[in-house]
Amino acid sequence: MPIRTGAAYVNALRDRRRVVLDGRTVADVTTDPAFRGTVASFAGLYDMQAAPGNRDLMTFETDTGHRVNRAWQLPTSLQDLVERRQAIEAWSALTFGWLGRSPDHLATALGGLMMGDAVMAAHDPARAAAFRDYFTYARDRDLFVTYVIQNPQADKSRSPSAQARDVVLHVVDEDAAGITVSGAKMLGTSTVMADEVFVGNIQPLKPGEGAYALSFALPVSTPGIVLLSRRSYEAGVTSAFDYPLSSRFDENDAVVVFEGVKVPWERVFVHGDVAAARAQWHETPTHVYQNYQSQIRLKVKLRFLLGLARRIAEVNGTAGMPQVEAVLARLATEAAIVEGMVAGMEAAGRRFGPYFVPSAHLLYAAQTYTQDLYPRFVNTIRDLAGGGVIMLPSSVRDLEDPEIRRHVEATQVSSATDALGRVGVMKLAWDALGSEFASRHVQYEMFYAGASYVNHANVNRTYDWSAATALADAALALSPRPAVPDRLDLSQGEAAE
Ligand SMILES: Cc1cc2nc3c(=O)[nH]c(=O)nc-3n(C[C@H](O)[C@H](O)[C@H](O)COP(=O)(O)OP(=O)(O)OC[C@H]3O[C@@H](n4cnc5c(N)ncnc54)[C@H](O)[C@@H]3O)c2cc1C
Repeated sequence: MPIRTGAAYVNALRDRRRVVLDGRTVADVTTDPAFRGTVASFAGLYDMQAAPGNRDLMTFETDTGHRVNRAWQLPTSLQDLVERRQAIEAWSALTFGWLGRSPDHLATALGGLMMGDAVMAAHDPARAAAFRDYFTYARDRDLFVTYVIQNPQADKSRSPSAQARDVVLHVVDEDAAGITVSGAKMLGTSTVMADEVFVGNIQPLKPGEGAYALSFALPVSTPGIVLLSRRSYEAGVTSAFDYPLSSRFDENDAVVVFEGVKVPWERVFVHGDVAAARAQWHETPTHVYQNYQSQIRLKVKLRFLLGLARRIAEVNGTAGMPQVEAVLARLATEAAIVEGMVAGMEAAGRRFGPYFVPSAHLLYAAQTYTQDLYPRFVNTIRDLAGGGVIMLPSSVRDLEDPEIRRHVEATQVSSATDALGRVGVMKLAWDALGSEFASRHVQYEMFYAGASYVNHANVNRTYDWSAATALADAALALSPRPAVPDRLDLSQGEAAE
């Protein structure tokens, strides 16, 4: 099979998937104004990997003789890991890090689960075999898979089976052909534009909640799957000039509803086993590996934002002011910390069987650091921008009218560029920092891998506390406890009174 191209990806999306938006069913996501710009961006990723000059950077040959994206590669050495990262980074650079759930994200997650095959086989050999076959199937077709692993936000004080209504996806039936599932999962990012969706459960389950302990994968077009899209930011743009990011990278998020969906056994990877439902994330490399991909993407996005911050300061003539130089230096330091952490995850990687995987602790530390960093980073650049991101023509239409354009050109002034140059920088800045698209990105970076309390637990779980406390204890041991005279026995005195 040739390297997957954008055209092959777009053609595959023309199926019977059920996507609803604004009270209607979307007929074709590849042409609908709510999605087409972003579909084209995903197609651009596939075209880039298929370009002959990018063959070795972006793809590798599988043991079955297919050339597919390097994200599917299971690294056995530090060099493999670094080469994979370079491919992920090159794809991220094409979208400036704004597509969180690009196809390399799930290729990475599924690779992590594949590396954990022995762990999963110990739980259920038949289900592990089904996953091995699925991995080969998805990898050899270079499929765009997304995932829904979080339950709909309902009552957080209750477990899935105790919600007021039966909202969480669960098994309702099973027979010789497979299982039948009903219920919902919280948010499928990019699912509207993907080939397949991987469905799992990453939240804690109680003993007896086996019906919720499941994972499987299906084509998005499977009968019974309904995607309830959030508002499309892409549909709301006036032009790509006004919204350079929203118009191209609105990857979409959708509640995924399953109405009596049949899942054949060959697509069921965890079934009824609460321990296996957890093990697939945390006892295999899956969770660390998938979020390592996210940190690679994020470091590209921070680099982009840093470049934007510098352009904003230049346009405003503030770049040389000592206070602004200090702000830029702090932003550059924070971006460098993230770059350093990604390099550190690789350098401090560990063996997992024959594989070489990133450091779990450095990954979770980076996760915790960046979910806190991102809103601050954005806010700092907003502070640099001032009102210039608001002092803008309402849309490109203003520029098409010569009289209005004269006023715009007279009022948009910069020593670094011309009027349209200033407008372009500030429109890009608003789309990255203040638009509805930008605001969704703040929420995304804060939550895509779990709320902060979840990441804190992962940091504490993976940090080498014994090494840290051993040092503290060694320091305590340097000074032996001083001898203290025995306490006076006051009871006798009290008795005498
Ligand atoms: C833009 C976006 C895209 C997403 N894409 C995907 C996707 O592609 N696939 C997918 O599976 N999921 C996706 N998600 C879901 C994401 O994984 C969840 O949002 C995340 O795990 C947090 O869960 P929650 O939203 O239910 O928040 P909650 O867990 O309800 O947390 C919200 C806040 O409530 C408080 N809180 C809740 N529970 C506790 C507790 N036990 N202890 C202390 N404090 C608590 C904390 O203050 C916390 O910050 C996406 C989310 C967003 C915002």
